Formats: sequence, structure tokens, C-alpha cells
Amino acid sequence: MAGDELRGHVSEQEARQVAEEAREERWEHPSFMSELFMGNLRLELIHPYPEEDPSAREKGDAYLEKIGAFLRDHVDADEIDRTGEMPPAVLDGLRQLGAFGMKIPETYGGLGLSQTSYSRVIEMITSHCGATSAWLSAHQSIGVPQPLKLFGTEAQKSRYFPRLARGAVSAFALTEPEVGSDPANMATTATPTEDGRTFMINGEKLWCTNGPVAELLVVMARTPSKIVNGRERKQITAFIVERGTPGFEVVHRCRFMGLHGIQNGLLRFTNVKVPRENILWGEGLGLKLALITLNTGRLTLPASCVGAAKRCLEIARIWANERIQWGGPIGRHEAVADRIADMAAKTFAMEALTYLACVMVDRGGFDIRLEAAAAKLWNTETTWRILHDTLQIRGGRGYETADSLRARGEKPIPIERAVRDFRVNLILEGSTEIMHLFLAREAVDPHFQLAGVLLDPDAAAAAKAKALAKAAAFYAWWYPSRWLSGLVRLGAYGEFGELAGHLRAVDRGARRLARGVFHCMMVHQARLEKRQLLLARLVDVGCELLAMAAACSRAQHLRERGEEGARAVSLADLFCRGARRRIDAHFAALWRNDDVRAYRLSQRVLAGDYTWLERGLAPTYPQQPRGN
Ligand SMILES: Cc1cc2nc3c(=O)[nH]c(=O)nc-3n(C[C@H](O)[C@H](O)[C@H](O)COP(=O)(O)OP(=O)(O)OC[C@H]3O[C@@H](n4cnc5c(N)ncnc54)[C@H](O)[C@@H]3O)c2cc1C
Repeated sequence: MAGDELRGHVSEQEARQVAEEAREERWEHPSFMSELFMGNLRLELIHPYPEEDPSAREKGDAYLEKIGAFLRDHVDADEIDRTGEMPPAVLDGLRQLGAFGMKIPETYGGLGLSQTSYSRVIEMITSHCGATSAWLSAHQSIGVPQPLKLFGTEAQKSRYFPRLARGAVSAFALTEPEVGSDPANMATTATPTEDGRTFMINGEKLWCTNGPVAELLVVMARTPSKIVNGRERKQITAFIVERGTPGFEVVHRCRFMGLHGIQNGLLRFTNVKVPRENILWGEGLGLKLALITLNTGRLTLPASCVGAAKRCLEIARIWANERIQWGGPIGRHEAVADRIADMAAKTFAMEALTYLACVMVDRGGFDIRLEAAAAKLWNTETTWRILHDTLQIRGGRGYETADSLRARGEKPIPIERAVRDFRVNLILEGSTEIMHLFLAREAVDPHFQLAGVLLDPDAAAAAKAKALAKAAAFYAWWYPSRWLSGLVRLGAYGEFGELAGHLRAVDRGARRLARGVFHCMMVHQARLEKRQLLLARLVDVGCELLAMAAACSRAQHLRERGEEGARAVSLADLFCRGARRRIDAHFAALWRNDDVRAYRLSQRVLAGDYTWLERGLAPTYPQQPRGN
């Protein structure tokens, strides 16, 4: 969802504030990925590969069985797609199974599943029906249960949790027609009444999943600004809003390319009166609440990706064995075989990365913001590619709808639907571009903290002198060590057997990444924030290194447990080989690229210099900017 914007219309200072908002203060362990960005492979943070607590796992396994049977017997994903409606019987069945209370503690009537088991359930549901998954995920990854769990008062929890656990659907309303990935600029207001006991909400919220049917909504709205250190500080506050409140209106149910069965709409609030006690956490803390909610809420999507990718792997495996063309099964032709190997290796890495972050959440005290964001970014992009490959392997049948396949007597394999359902995951909960910016800010932040003053033309000379002394002391040790310790570590990670070389590559890669970040800062200085493509390449290197470390750690763990060990090592090995080539390409493109030339050309395209290229179009869509 909207929630991670660090740029757009916001000023640099506001952007920094947004990044600060997403930080929590109670971490005991540093972020593995932040350390990678600084050139440190802190393997002890993720290895031995962490496992879900056995009792939590047992509970999750038992629930997965129930959900699996329910999906098989009662959820017809093609029918939901065809009709664009979620059958009431499915929702009732899910309620009876407690699926709306998976993350709600048992003391309040929920199932109290761990983050890991909840993610495993979402993975399974997505492998069957994307729309069903979206209903449950919008409700409890970001809807009322998650912020209530994190920030609700005891009174709020006792009041709402039991209702939510019984199946009162909830939604998260942040996006507005004019405010997408840039929530700090929202226009919806919540104005306190004179006695200060209630607030009047006015505004519109767009694309709110579950919004048209939700009984309870978390609504972000602007409350009166405060003056902090002589400057106006915008305040965003989160409110729990009851559907029945006068002035609340569903203006339109939105329809999409995929996820036809979701309820998603444009909502209008006209003088919607909400009592002060419905504020979650505190006045002015709404943006921080939204961002912290998304820190873990965002982990649902990587788990969904794992479900989609595993389904693709199954479909591709069966079809590539069955389909005979040019004298043999298509899986024996190298071009198809390569896609299957790539798919298997990446699915393994995605699963390793996702559940690494999930177990860290369950253990508590880990700063997993970056791992969750990287998993969201990397898994969604990777799964999109996997879906593309699966469709290609299925050939014409990949493009045909499940209903059409069924009607002519073939297996109704729904790749066409899966592609449609999946695409939005690269847009919501922080689009690919916004995730790049979010992670890039964290990559450069330690350097800006140390040396930012030196790059600021307005900073006072005394402040610059102080910063220079501090930076000189730090970089005198840090910078040479980013070159040298790679040599010292020759032969390290021997306990990983044939994967040791890949871990050494992660170690070297982290140092090279840290140097890359530093060099880019030195060359581009304050302008670096505008060089989004450079930053994205650095972030992509970080994601690949993280996925490599997770894959190696998990493969080693499986080997030690004797579970599919050798096979897991082969998957991790193939994955790491590909990742290393991608990393090399990203590094090479840091200094050899067409970024500036392409940007200049794009601006001329935007200015209309190339409209001649659009000649010959049918006059179907008048492409006039709004207001003209
Ligand atoms: C099916 C669906 C369900 C949704 N559910 C919810 C929900 O439950 N609750 C909710 O609040 N919202 C929801 N959303 C909204 C969703 O979160 C937004 O679509 C998302 O935040 C992006 O906003 P936008 O579409 O306005 O894109 P914009 O912010 O207008 O961005 C358009 C494009 O520009 C890129 N871009 C924007 N800014 C920058 C920048 N600074 N640098 C580089 N690129 C940039 C974006 O990545 C994107 O590619 C949903 C949307 C959809 C389609």
C-alpha cells in the first residue's frame, strides 16, 4: 500500500522524517542488510538458519491442514475470478475456521499464529486463490488487527479484537486520489471538535481493499499541525472508524485486471464523527504507525510470492514432462530446461529469505525493516519473472483462460489468471521504485549521518570542521578495511562445503557494495538522491547478496538436518552462480550506463518533442493531461 515514499513532493527534510518514522526504538540486534550495505557480513545474525519455535510450528501445521482441506473443497478460484464476487459461504467458512483472527492473540479469541505460520497459511492460500489471500491479508497484515496489536490500548484491544477474530472484516485506508506512494501529503483531515472529545473526518480514500464491506477501518487523516522548534510539523493520525458512522460512503467499487474477487473501493468521509478514544497510538503518530505496520505487514507479500512460485514450479514440471514437441518432452529442450532450473533455484532462495525474516519477527528484537522491504522488492520482481516463464512454457495454453481450457476438455490450469492476479504486487505496499528508494536511503544513511554536513552548502564552518574530524577518524579505518579484509578471509566459511565460495563472494560483494555506495556519494554528493538508477543498482546488489546468504544458510541447515541436504545445496549453488553474474552486471553498470542520456531524452519526450512518433494511432484515447 502507499506508505514508504521518501521523495515525490516531500522536501528532503520531510523525506528524512518519514524514514525516521519507520524506525522503532526497541531493537536489540542490528539489521543484517544494513550491515551488508556498510560492508560487513554479519552471518551470525542469520546463521544457523533460524527455525520457527516447534510448538508454534505444530500449531501452524495443524491449521494448514484445515485450510488446505477447506480450499480444496470449498474455494473455486476460477468461479471467484469469473463472477468477480467472493461467495458468502466461503467467507463464512473462513470465519468458522478463525481465518480472520490468525494473528490475533488467543486471549482475545484469535488463533495466535506466529508470523511464520501466518505467512505459511498465506503462502498456501495464494497458491490456490489470490483474491481469497488478498481478503485475509488486507484484513490482518495491514487492516485493524496489526496496528491494534502493536499500538492499541488494552481497552481498544478488548473492544475490537474479539469482533475481528470472529470475522468482522477490516481495512487500511491510506491512499487518496492525489496521494499514492507519497502519503505524507494526504488531504483527508480529522478536525477536533471544540470540546476536543471527537474528530470530524473529511476526505476520500482510494483503492481501499475490503473498504466497501469492512466493518472497521484504520483511517489515516491529517490532524492540526504542530509547531516544533519554530517550524510547522504536519500531523497524521490513525483512527479506528466504524462502518456505520454517519457520513461514511462507498462511492465506487473499483475493478481491476486481476484479483476480481476482492472488494476494493473509493470511500468518502463527510463529517464522519469519531471519538478521541478511537485514535490508535496517539495524535500525530499515524504516519509512523502506518510505516511500522508495513514493516512486518509487508512480509505477507513475499510469502504470497513463494506460494505463487511453487505453484508455477509444479505446473512447469508437469507440463514440461508431458508435452512432447520436436521429438521429446519440452523439458528436455535446453531453452525450457534452463527456465525450470532457474525457477527452482529462485523459489528456494525466495523461501529462504521470506522465512528468515518471519522467524526474526517471531523471535523479536531484530530490525527486519530492510529484510522485509528487500524480500518484498526482490520476491515480487522474481515471481513476476517466474510467472512469465511459466506462461511461456505452457505456450498457447498459458495464454488461454482456465474456463476455456476446461470447456474443451483440458486441465484448467490458471496461469493466465495467476499472471493477472499477481501483477499488482509490484505496485502496492511500496512499489518497486519506492522500495528501491526506501532501501537506498538506509544504504546511504550512515554516511550522511557522518558526512552529510560536509555536503551541505548551507552548513556553518564550525559544524563542518567538527563533522570533518569525525568523518576523517571513521573513514581512515573504514575505507581501507573495505579493500583489505577480503584478502584476510580467503578460505573462510569452510563449514559450508561447496557453498563456502559463495559466502566468500557475499563477503567480498558486501565490501564492494559498501565501496560502491561510498564512491557514488563522493562522485555525485548531494545529487546522488536524484540518481535513482544508480541507487537502484546498489540496492539490487544488496538484495542479491541477502538472498544468497539466506539461501546458503538454509541449504546448510537442511544438510545438517539431513533433509534434502544435497538437493538443497544444488539449488543454493545454482542460485548463487546466477546472482553473482547479476551482481557483476549491476556493478559494471554503476560506471557504464546511459542514465543521463536516457533521462535527457525522456524529458524531451515529456516535453512533446517526439509526438511525431505517436502518429498513426487510432483516435481512441484522448491523452490530454487533466485540466486541459
Ligand atoms: C488492487 C489494489 C489494492 C490496493 N489496496 C490498498 C489498500 O488496501 N489501502 C491503501 O491505502 N492503498 C491501497 N492501494 C493503493 C496502493 O498502495 C497504491 O496504488 C500505491 O501506493 C501506489 O500509488 P499510486 O498508484 O497512486 O502510484 P503513484 O504514487 O502515483 O506512482 C505512479 C508510478 O510512479 C512511481 N513513483 C512514484 N513516486 C516516485 C518517485 N519518487 N521516484 C520514482 N518513482 C516514483 C511509482 O512507483 C509508480 O510506478 C491499492 C492499490 C491497488 C491497485
